Amino acid sequence: MAEESLRQAQKMEAVGQLTGGIAHDFNNMLQGVIGGLAMARRQIGGGHPERAARYLDAAHGAAERSAGLTRRLLAFARRQRLDPRPVDADGLVAGLADLIRRTVGPGIAVELRLRDGAGVVLCDPNELESALVNLCINARDAMPEGGRLAIGTEEVRLSAADIPKGEAPPGTYVAVSVVDTGMGMPPEVLDRVFEPFFTTKPQGQGTGLGLSQVYGFVRQSGGLVRIESAPGRGTTVRLLLPLHEGVAVAEGPRPSPSVPNGLNGTVLLVDDEEAVRGSAADRLRELGLTVLEARDGPEALRVLASVWPDLLVTDVGLPNGMNGRQVAEAARERVRDLPVLFITGYAGTALPPGMEVIGKPFELDTLARRVEAILQAEGQRNDRDPVA
Ligand code: ADP
Ligand code: MG
Repeated sequence: MAEESLRQAQKMEAVGQLTGGIAHDFNNMLQGVIGGLAMARRQIGGGHPERAARYLDAAHGAAERSAGLTRRLLAFARRQRLDPRPVDADGLVAGLADLIRRTVGPGIAVELRLRDGAGVVLCDPNELESALVNLCINARDAMPEGGRLAIGTEEVRLSAADIPKGEAPPGTYVAVSVVDTGMGMPPEVLDRVFEPFFTTKPQGQGTGLGLSQVYGFVRQSGGLVRIESAPGRGTTVRLLLPLHEGVAVAEGPRPSPSVPNGLNGTVLLVDDEEAVRGSAADRLRELGLTVLEARDGPEALRVLASVWPDLLVTDVGLPNGMNGRQVAEAARERVRDLPVLFITGYAGTALPPGMEVIGKPFELDTLARRVEAILQAEGQRNDRDPVA
């Protein structure tokens, strides 16, 4: 348990550092959304709706970028440890580059040196990301006046002679390295860097947990950490992770099938946020569905008094005394086994059968596909078990 809390503290160290760096960028992106929408409205108001599309696209792009950032922060902060799985080292580093650039700031030039085909490693991708972020934050702190930061990957063969203490078997490893041109470390610091809570930074700036997270993660993944550093000569940290013979699990969005139109059925949609509810309702109506809208639990109950919907789509956090779960329970008292789709900004926990979650922010097409899949599955189920 103590180990678990230490691990969590180590991870939160990275999250804390990231959040500070990102809040500012986040505001910039939101400004892009607000500005784009305002300009689109002006063009429409000025009688040039055809000119609005460009601004709407810009707003949409900015909103998607902010969604990407929050997804990353949540992935970092997630408490549970994911199991090790095959990870494409190059892909992971490339995916993290944007976040790292934002975190180290404009004074530090970030360069990627990805040796194409530096292969697949078996590890927990979230932990590997945390490790890289911790290393890059250390590099940033070592270069207060700016400098260069290079992140590289390559495949290396280690013989028994390369691994003096026999800490790992000889074989092929993927080296992920972080190189900075910063102040470097004297030997007495270098000797202690992996100790939890060892820091040379002023109170409030360092926790001494960064490199202990890196070390713990790499050893657990069957690898080695090598550090070369000298005062005034910069620092190179290399994570050597055993090459995994296998194919990486693809991550990220998959190409989505097209959404056929022409469903029928009735959806009760509950969300207190007008902009969210309105756009979602319109998109679902395009599918051919009848959509009844409610702003909160009590309003939803009034609708349920006269209509039996085929699906309830509800926000989890709602005002006026009932949360989404309570709305779902009340709805199921009236319509037995009513399928429920929650929309929420929180990660889902275990849900009762027939209840699903879609995370905010979502694309309207994604919502449409989920609703469609649920209604189709429901239709088949009802075909099989006609109500007596
Ligand atoms: P923290 O960053 O909170 O101090 P870490 O475990 O990440 O904790 O690092 C421990 C210490 O190692 C740092 O305080 C610093 O003295 C030294 N260090 C780590 N990385 C570097 C680096 N890239 N350049 C110079 N010193 C470093
Ligand atoms: Mg650190």
